[in-house]
Amino acid sequence: MDRLQVVLYSDAEMAERGIRSYREMQAEIPATADAKELQYVKCVANYVVAALDSEDQSRFDWEVTVFDNEQANAFALPGGKIGVYNGLFSVAVNQHQLAAVMAHEVGHVLASHSNERASQSALRNIGVAAAQILGASTSALEIFDVGTRYGIFLPFNRTQEGEADAIGVTLMSEAGFNPEESINLWVNMSANGGPRPPELLSTHPSPSSRMAELRRLMPPANALRDSANSRGLSPDCILF
Ligand SMILES: [Zn+2]
Repeated sequence: MDRLQVVLYSDAEMAERGIRSYREMQAEIPATADAKELQYVKCVANYVVAALDSEDQSRFDWEVTVFDNEQANAFALPGGKIGVYNGLFSVAVNQHQLAAVMAHEVGHVLASHSNERASQSALRNIGVAAAQILGASTSALEIFDVGTRYGIFLPFNRTQEGEADAIGVTLMSEAGFNPEESINLWVNMSANGGPRPPELLSTHPSPSSRMAELRRLMPPANALRDSANSRGLSPDCILF
């Protein structure tokens, strides 16, 4: 990444927040009762995580949960905690498309995007807090706390989305998945027309500009995929 990032928190601190949020979600949203769904998502996740360099592989304790929820959505939190809603299977219709989503989410984690979001949120709140102190009204600390606590689930911006797409396409290709399917995924997303998934579509570039950018990434991505396949790395994850 060739831009400056404002990050206020340590990796360990962000990992702790990510894990705490993940455990809360696991307590609130039921996991799928279908063992095959979990097996399928784990299969794809294993290939994606195996394609990380050794430092990123060991940086977190990677973990996958499949939530029983109709949203076509997925996320990855600092600390290496990945969540997939089983509603995603109606949009990401094969292992390559699922890998495209998961590698994109992992890309957000690798690029410390949550740290950036939480930091921006905290800085904004310091501004609010300073104003509040001057006005001597609501507890400044309270405002600060609420903003940072939820900072972990604020939407990503376009720059971050572009970075996650680039990292994700590279990663899925290195894992041996077909990067062309990342474009088909966006065709499916556009055609789906249902409720807009919060992470995958909310603040994102329009699907057409996103697909154009992904097409630009295809030549090097296809070369990475060919190389992976020729080394015998050919994922075979199937949802029965
Ligand atoms: Zn994203």
